[in-house]
Amino acid sequence: MVIPPDRIFVPLPRAAVLAFTEPAEPPPRHVIHLPVAVADLAEALDLARWLARALTSTPQVDVAGATVSAEDAQHVRHWVFCDRIMPDRRRCGRQADHGGACLPVGGP
Ligand SMILES: [Zn+2]
Repeated sequence: MVIPPDRIFVPLPRAAVLAFTEPAEPPPRHVIHLPVAVADLAEALDLARWLARALTSTPQVDVAGATVSAEDAQHVRHWVFCDRIMPDRRRCGRQADHGGACLPVGGP
């Protein structure tokens, strides 16, 4: 069988590449509940932002998925980061409910 020269470097379809590179199932996820003693929700969100940013080099941590809740109402969660998808596919790294325009993680 002779392969024409213009067919040698034809890229595989995306589904074929994913079949060999993506795990069949994503690893299970868990949530670490870490109580903190602070005055109010705003202070808890500030501390959560600081802690989350300190963990950005830990690949197991989904920093953008950080939430905060009152200890006696853990079903009511408040997002720590905006995390909107920007036009260039990066995500906004500003705090949740921020004013003004979104800003991608790592700056413009
Ligand atoms: Zn934003």
